[in-house]
Amino acid sequence: MRIARVFAPSVSSPGTRYALPPDASRHLGKVLRARVGQSLVCFDGTGREYTCTITDIDRKQVWVQVESVTETSNESPLSIKLALAITRGDRMDFAIQKSVELGVIEILPFFSERCEVKLRGDKASKRTAHWQAVALSACEQSGRAVVPQVLAPQALADLVTTEHAMRLVLDPTSEQTLSALPITGNQVLVAIGPEGGFSNEEVDLMTGHGFDSVRLGPRVLRAETAAIVATAALQTLHGDLGR
Ligand code: SAM
Repeated sequence: MRIARVFAPSVSSPGTRYALPPDASRHLGKVLRARVGQSLVCFDGTGREYTCTITDIDRKQVWVQVESVTETSNESPLSIKLALAITRGDRMDFAIQKSVELGVIEILPFFSERCEVKLRGDKASKRTAHWQAVALSACEQSGRAVVPQVLAPQALADLVTTEHAMRLVLDPTSEQTLSALPITGNQVLVAIGPEGGFSNEEVDLMTGHGFDSVRLGPRVLRAETAAIVATAALQTLHGDLGR
């Protein structure tokens, strides 16, 4: 039977009994129908995994005995931050889920000229919390013990001022291919446009702030496809895909 993995940020040290957080308790009790005596893995989001045994289950809570702790080592040597123009429906969810499985370390949602989504009032924080939950679930599934952070949505004008070692903007009309671009260091931030693409002025703004513009082959991809392809290509060329 597959061993369940759940996020437990404040899981205690081996030898102690620990009450799992409400979300993890609900998932184990109601969805996975866990049983007393069953083993599971808790991860704390910073790289440690805890082997545990379920000791008690009631209607709302699951308790575990923490048996042992290990440091996981499946993070990529290439730190990829993904800046995603906010897209409609579940496209953002898809891009976040797949890119977290592929190893990105941070998601930076942003608004640009042709974004069709507006997030007013508390909608932005609710949507950010939803995206963070998508990232967390991708970690549970993929065996990652480090949870990438999803930042609050920002304007492109603010994103361009973000200090970062190397920054790329994906532009289907660029003369430079991603595979031909040397990556200096082990950190890269990649910006991907909305369904309608970046305007010429936005590409100029980004390149003016030091972004390298690159294309991914000769076909125009949907924004969420471009996010996944760029991450996979970077992991293959400079990271750990294939290791
Ligand atoms: N007509 C738009 C354009 O020409 O930019 C298409 C936008 S595409 C649906 C959404 C985003 O995905 C683009 O802004 C770009 O960031 C990225 N993208 C899609 N295909 C790409 C490619 N072949 N090379 C580089 N970026 C690409």
